[in-house]
Amino acid sequence: MQEFAGQVAVITGGASGVGRSLAFALGRRGACVVAADVDRNAMDALERDAKAAGISLLTRRCDVTAAGDCEALAGYAMSEHGRIDMVFANAGIGAGEAGPMWTYSMKDWQWCFGVNVWGVVNTINAFLPRLVAQERKSHFTVTGSGNGAFVVLPDAPIYTATKAAVQAITENLYYQNVALKSPVSVHALFPGPHVVDTGLFDSDRVRPESFDTGTPKSSGIRSVEDMRRLMQQHGMELKTTHPDEVAEAAVAGILADTFWICPRTEESLAKFLARVESIRTLQNPVAASVG
Ligand code: NAD
Repeated sequence: MQEFAGQVAVITGGASGVGRSLAFALGRRGACVVAADVDRNAMDALERDAKAAGISLLTRRCDVTAAGDCEALAGYAMSEHGRIDMVFANAGIGAGEAGPMWTYSMKDWQWCFGVNVWGVVNTINAFLPRLVAQERKSHFTVTGSGNGAFVVLPDAPIYTATKAAVQAITENLYYQNVALKSPVSVHALFPGPHVVDTGLFDSDRVRPESFDTGTPKSSGIRSVEDMRRLMQQHGMELKTTHPDEVAEAAVAGILADTFWICPRTEESLAKFLARVESIRTLQNPVAASVG
């Protein structure tokens, strides 16, 4: 399985969760991986594990909210490897919001939009000119979320709003590359089909001091396990997906060259269709739930 032998993959938010699983899925198939992140400890652990697995991997500090960091990352990958075949704009955070949205700190809105939206825009601006200039096939994959792209999750208005914006940006990026007959394939990756067991619920571990709100995380949920317990209290079962499954879906989507990389269930599809039906019939919407 050396489908990506000699190819170069750059992953933002590459040190943990979906990004880390992508690093292994691509590395095991022969790709040289450049994993970029703000979490030095997680990058050190990734380096150690990749070495043990015999995977070619470089790490690089890159805060995707800083356009200069993304530009430097693209330059670094090019200078180290002389080519870039796959880019994953994957870095993302959860704001941990709970309660009425008018009670949230502006710092929560700004941090989440900074990473999830401006981070994607900065990554596009740094890499697309280089990918297009190579004049050969390459892939640009954006990690979105069904919570925003397909349904509105009422308890996570900040996160949902960022991922709605990300979907609009990704789909436009696809249309523009098609219209320009560019050699860059754009993909929209939706981790799932269930809640993916990653560090997303503990994003505060990488929250910069400048966005510290001075109050404890309002939702009280810091892990998938916390969420599982909360749902059990309400008699509901939380189904989860391992990030390795998401990485395998991403690999399959890139090899098949499809825009939508979206593992889903009948249940998640039904939630999306219920929203579309509400728009079609102009009936008032009903809140979708996590799952
Ligand atoms: P994660 O927290 O395990 O990984 C996110 C990574 O992004 C971390 O390594 C973190 O250090 C890094 N990061 C945070 N801020 C950054 C910044 N400013 N610059 C660079 N890197 C930064 O969570 P994950 O679930 O693997 O998240 C990956 C992507 O998947 C995100 O875009 C997230 O929104 C999306 N997603 C996750 C789920 C899920 O259920 N976990 C569902 C849908 C979409």
